Amino acid sequence: MVTDLAYLESAGAGYETTFTARVLALPPGGIVLDRTLFYPAGGGQPSDRGVVTGPDGRPLSIADVTKSGSVVVHRLGRGSRPSLAVGDSVEGKLDWDRRYGHMRLHTAQHLLSAVVFQRTGRKTRKATFGAGRGVIDVVGTWPPVETASTLAEAFASYLAPAREVRIRWLPRTEWEANPSARAGLVPLPPQVDPVRVIEIDGIDTCPCGGTHLRSTGEIGEFTLEPFAQAGDATRIGFALRTAAAHSERVTP
Ligand SMILES: [Zn+2]
Repeated sequence: MVTDLAYLESAGAGYETTFTARVLALPPGGIVLDRTLFYPAGGGQPSDRGVVTGPDGRPLSIADVTKSGSVVVHRLGRGSRPSLAVGDSVEGKLDWDRRYGHMRLHTAQHLLSAVVFQRTGRKTRKATFGAGRGVIDVVGTWPPVETASTLAEAFASYLAPAREVRIRWLPRTEWEANPSARAGLVPLPPQVDPVRVIEIDGIDTCPCGGTHLRSTGEIGEFTLEPFAQAGDATRIGFALRTAAAHSERVTP
């Protein structure tokens, strides 16, 4: 049993909010579909939320989405009982404001990690984000020459003029023959082939299974927080300053 991860396919697929699918299984409290646009939590990006509507027209609230082996489980919100049967055709609809916020944060995180690497040679060990804010943990203590404001300035120079963000699928052998210098801190899982690579024009190339913007111009106003020590890493917090772009659905 496999769920087709329809949100991965192209830059445009990350901007789609409604889809049709067929019910493959109904585990307790959840729905497994043959395809989905709902992003399951992973790689620092929180899961999508939204609704799934079956043949009876009653929307079922999806509170959480997780990957389980080769399938995606859409977990129902409290009080939602599925009036569905295996084989039913359903319509799914994402909470777009939530998803678009995650896309802005995720592309911002790649760009921030790239700017940090470009200026200091330090790689990002871990990144997490959600609810308008995120953090990256950068290996090592911070060189005193960099401050949050010089970093923020360098970051802003990639927002205007905006840089294109592209998705490319590369055979694993091709990626491994020429990986980007910033990537490679966490090895790719053995089954990953081809490799989905996110490119920010002129600054970054990084393997990633998340959902991204098509342009850095959509990140919007952005704040960097003062650096903090987190064990043997430097933690940098970042936040979206403007919420306006959340509801602007960009037509592919
Ligand atoms: Zn990523």
